[in-house]
Amino acid sequence: MNTKLRSQIVKYSTENAYIAEHFATAICSTCRSEVFRLVMNEDEGVAVRICTSCEGEHAIGDSNEYLEDVEELYRIECTCDANQFKIMAGVALYEGSEDVRWFYLGCECVKCRLSGVYGDWKNEFIGYQALLDNV
Ligand SMILES: [Zn+2]
Ligand SMILES: [Zn+2]
Repeated sequence: MNTKLRSQIVKYSTENAYIAEHFATAICSTCRSEVFRLVMNEDEGVAVRICTSCEGEHAIGDSNEYLEDVEELYRIECTCDANQFKIMAGVALYEGSEDVRWFYLGCECVKCRLSGVYGDWKNEFIGYQALLDNV
């Protein structure tokens, strides 16, 4: 697990008041690559990653449920203009529960290594492990 990226998500989420406690790294299920391009609509809580090795597309978390209604997905780019990332998701849970309260999506640019949270939204998925299994 990428500890630098994880600590970025923890820091960001602490400032947001819902602290991320569980994490998962995105890995392509087809070719096992960990480098992706990313498109997102933060307002709609939707993100899709595109594998840079096999071009496979995957809707992150529960994005598939909402993808149909989303008019526009925005391409994520680093401040260095590169657009290939390692991706990690973090979730904050309701207290004493396994249910998700808030979702964070962190990226690390593979070119310049800059990392940070590129999107976060309210997500009330029941059972966080299933959500993280689909990052
Ligand atoms: Zn792939
Ligand atoms: Zn960069």
